[in-house]
Amino acid sequence: MLIRGGRVVDVAGDRVADVRTGPDGRVAAVEPHLDQHPGEEVVDASGLLVVPGGVDAHTHLNLPVGAVRVSDDFATGTAAAAVGGTTTVVDYVTAYRGEDPLAALATWQRWAEPAAIDVGLHMTFTEAVPESAVVDCIERGVTSFKLYMAYPETLQVDDGVILGVMQAAGRHGGLVTLHAENGSAIELLRHQALDAGRSAVIEHSRTRPAILEGEAVNRAAALAEVAGVPVYIVHVSSAPALAAIRTAQERGIDVVAETCPQYLHLSEASLSGPGGENFVCTPPLRDPWHQEELWEGLAQGTIHTVATDHCPFTVTDRRAGTRGRPEGFADFTEIPGGLPGIETRLALVWEGVVDRRITVADWVRLCAEAPARTFGLWPAKGSLQVGADADVVVWDPAAEQRLAAAALHMRTDHSPYAGRVARGWPRLVLARGRAVARDGVFCGQAGWGRYLPRSPRPGAVG
Ligand SMILES: [Zn+2]
Repeated sequence: MLIRGGRVVDVAGDRVADVRTGPDGRVAAVEPHLDQHPGEEVVDASGLLVVPGGVDAHTHLNLPVGAVRVSDDFATGTAAAAVGGTTTVVDYVTAYRGEDPLAALATWQRWAEPAAIDVGLHMTFTEAVPESAVVDCIERGVTSFKLYMAYPETLQVDDGVILGVMQAAGRHGGLVTLHAENGSAIELLRHQALDAGRSAVIEHSRTRPAILEGEAVNRAAALAEVAGVPVYIVHVSSAPALAAIRTAQERGIDVVAETCPQYLHLSEASLSGPGGENFVCTPPLRDPWHQEELWEGLAQGTIHTVATDHCPFTVTDRRAGTRGRPEGFADFTEIPGGLPGIETRLALVWEGVVDRRITVADWVRLCAEAPARTFGLWPAKGSLQVGADADVVVWDPAAEQRLAAAALHMRTDHSPYAGRVARGWPRLVLARGRAVARDGVFCGQAGWGRYLPRSPRPGAVG
């Protein structure tokens, strides 16, 4: 395919050029005025942007959550991702307590087989593990590890476990990612709320104050400093967390930070209205002023990536809650947390370009280049250099796309952005050279996606 005359933006710069994809599914040339080869499809991209396919480094597809399940599986979720311009996802495997991490990995790899785009996997440990578990994962291309500082009953590990996994990962080129909230303090606040008869949806955010996110980021950075390793903070939602990241970075600690579109566009007020349960995610949505701070953090480079934490539910499942009650959840602690977003990420970050908060180059870096580099996928993913995978988005900045659930492809009947119209949408999306979406219609194929073994970080002992 020859994509002609677009404004090509990637790490190599911002220029008008033609992009040729080869029969091997890789980028074959990026130059001005390429001649058409016989039989080659030509796409006119004049007036459009041509950028690397998006890399969403934080998704939860097909995940069971108590009595309910995330409503997108790998087939539907990756198809929706493709329509919105994302061509790689990195999903979180969870090894629950007592479970063999490699068995959990095998389960996720089987779930991921019908993916329409390429899939990498992170590993979540929920208890102390021997160093060999870290090595086993890295040998299988799972080079990043998640630990939770929250959810004491099921997922949380203590600071000693975090430090130990950081040290082990550091020795073998792995990266630790952290859900940073002070889970033990939050647990007390939740019990106190229930004991006082405060059970409404809004209590979800009131019992998870932003300062307890900031505190956990501080602690995470201190542990990373002691271990002498970088650390990646997932879904940064608040100004205190951002301030803690900035402080740590100024101290020379390599803190890599991620935020999500919901924290840039939505606020806590949504939890108070009817259907407020459909806005429950963790960390919770905050007061609107945090959004301004997060956009600043993106523009200044304090926050490096935007991922989705895609974790959708149907309205019915949300009402039934994690206990699966036909009469509806009993209180806020039973609401499954997570929002849809895998399809709308590029568009919602692009809003920042339209509003002049960030540049086009920032948008490409945040949505594709930085996540690819951070998670060992560079330069096959996240760039358009010759030889990279031909994951290409032809972006139409003049397109308008409704963000109502019915206008999107994610398998959920609730959109947190219903009523909004995105100002920009992909015209064409290629995954390894194959068209997977055209004009907002999925045209890929389940199973086209491959499992992506990822590289360890350079400099590790191996
Ligand atoms: Zn998550």
